[in-house]
Amino acid sequence: MSTSYTPAIPKEASFARFLGKGKIAFINKSVGSPGPGQLLLQNKANSLCGSDFAYLFNGNDTVSPGHEIAGVVAAAGPDTRIKPGTRGVVFLMDYCGKCRNCQQGATNQCLHKRADYGFTHDGGYGSYIVINENVFFPIPDSMSYAQGTLLLDIMGTGGHAIKRARLVHPSPASMIVLGAGPIGLGILAMAKIMYGKDFPVLISDVVEYRLDLAEKLGGLPINLNKGSLAEGAASQGFKEIDVAIDSSGKESARRAALDVLSQRGVLIFVGHGEKLQLQISPDMIATERALLGSEYFCYNELQGNLDLYLQNRDYLDQIITHTYPIAELEEAYRVFVGRDTGKVIAEY
Ligand SMILES: [Zn+2]
Ligand SMILES: [Zn+2]
Repeated sequence: MSTSYTPAIPKEASFARFLGKGKIAFINKSVGSPGPGQLLLQNKANSLCGSDFAYLFNGNDTVSPGHEIAGVVAAAGPDTRIKPGTRGVVFLMDYCGKCRNCQQGATNQCLHKRADYGFTHDGGYGSYIVINENVFFPIPDSMSYAQGTLLLDIMGTGGHAIKRARLVHPSPASMIVLGAGPIGLGILAMAKIMYGKDFPVLISDVVEYRLDLAEKLGGLPINLNKGSLAEGAASQGFKEIDVAIDSSGKESARRAALDVLSQRGVLIFVGHGEKLQLQISPDMIATERALLGSEYFCYNELQGNLDLYLQNRDYLDQIITHTYPIAELEEAYRVFVGRDTGKVIAEY
């Protein structure tokens, strides 16, 4: 049965403006129309992210932020395959598909990137956005829009970091995640899903709420208010750890991770932020350890992550702890900045 989906598309719609100092207002703006190869997406949910804090505190008067976007296709331009009415999520990096990196599947490293939705172009806090069709990924009806956003920074970014570590250490015996914010929780959850629930994943933070949530997800919590990373690891029975993944962006966390990293171990950087000073001989050469960056994920990881979501939905849904209507976005960020949350979702 085919029913055509022809929603009434308004001429103008509401878009969030981040004014700085935590203030968010909504303005009315004209709704774009999709050109060749483009879709008009009606946004339905967007997950809050620490990467938005620069806009939240300093303001942004050019775009509506929001880069963990789920919505429904309201209209499709010429030369598109995806039909209006299709529900899905948006891969934030508009990759060209043709450059050397895209050809090798590394769409997160596109050499001719056209957009970062939510940064260079309007994102999930605008009611409607025009996107190029290649960044859209359909989700099944059994998945809510909020659940759809888990495919992005949680499963996507988390899973990609683990795959980066696997390049160097194919069979690690243990892992430590620095920082139990949403990205850290995503890494923990994906490690449990990819390596099995008995695979030990230590996770450090200073926020009790997040450590409790990490423990619920099967992590071995280390409260850094109570001692160093090495002391916390030792109290959990680990002197050395094969894989460390830093989502905190803190130099102290990176240094502490290196100090518990085993020979042949790998340290992955996911969190931007501070520096790290290295003693090349002991830190890297004598120990044959590797330091790798990990940025977002590749479009071609979405299908595998969707399959994993459908097999582990109750487990993964625990990461979403708060949901707010989009009109309360400012309050949602206020609570998220307070850190007593997992993933916070704004819904239309
Ligand atoms: Zn994000
Ligand atoms: Zn490319």
